[in-house]
Amino acid sequence: MPSPAPSTSCPACDSMNVRSFSFVEGVIHVCDQCQLQWADRQASAIEGDTDITGAHSRYMDPDSIRADSYEPYVTFFATLRRLLGERPLRILDVGCGNGVFMAEAARRGHDVRGIELDERHRAVIAAELLPKVSFKAAEDALPEMDGSFDVIVFWDSFEHIDAPFALLDFVAPRLAAGGLVFARVNNVWDIFNLLTRLTLSLAPSTLGPRLLKTCFNLPQHAWNFSRIGMRKMLEQRGWRVVHDRVTETPASRLFTQPIKKAILRLAYLANLLIGGGKIGEYYFSRSE
Ligand SMILES: [Zn+2]
Repeated sequence: MPSPAPSTSCPACDSMNVRSFSFVEGVIHVCDQCQLQWADRQASAIEGDTDITGAHSRYMDPDSIRADSYEPYVTFFATLRRLLGERPLRILDVGCGNGVFMAEAARRGHDVRGIELDERHRAVIAAELLPKVSFKAAEDALPEMDGSFDVIVFWDSFEHIDAPFALLDFVAPRLAAGGLVFARVNNVWDIFNLLTRLTLSLAPSTLGPRLLKTCFNLPQHAWNFSRIGMRKMLEQRGWRVVHDRVTETPASRLFTQPIKKAILRLAYLANLLIGGGKIGEYYFSRSE
């Protein structure tokens, strides 16, 4: 049963208007000012929940997407062309997972390197890419890599990191002049999050926290970003958002059953009507 946690201030907007909900796996904080959500996770909960063949198996299956027509990748490379021009780029993929993005980037003529903490992905990453992947923490992997990168990407990895902004500080010196960082993260302005907020107000000690934990995805996630909160935290640390959008994960990557896919597409339609989406994508560079 959730219990009250000590009060805290929002790391994005400094508001003290924060509600905290305690679970076995950690505490989720909800800022009622900028809507940012973040968690103080129990280390044991993160270590105990690393089954890549379980809940996330569909998402992490390299065959769950056709990379050359996967909308998030197609839009990403089109945006890079617009922002950086048509040229081969040196790309670093932080949390490269199954290596599908790396393979697509290489197919498009880019020079790509990967960092992945979880050794078990070694079995699914394409053999020709393995020499380009370092199975270490970024803090240990990056010093062993040469040169700088035009683009550093965090595909669905940023919100899994307890201190992602400290990691940004660490990788920043390796970003080439005029280079970009890309982060695809979760976003609080969508129909599932709105339903969760409503339930938190109506049933703040029972159903609300239970729904919050599911929507937030504790303990896998450490953050659930609002657009304003993400912008504020980047700007505080000397980054400038060049472009961002709210979007979704294509339904076929999440589910195979037609009924589940249909329900998800209905939710996406509702998101479209409120100008929201479960995912936020951010392109940012060092401030001048
Ligand atoms: Zn806030």
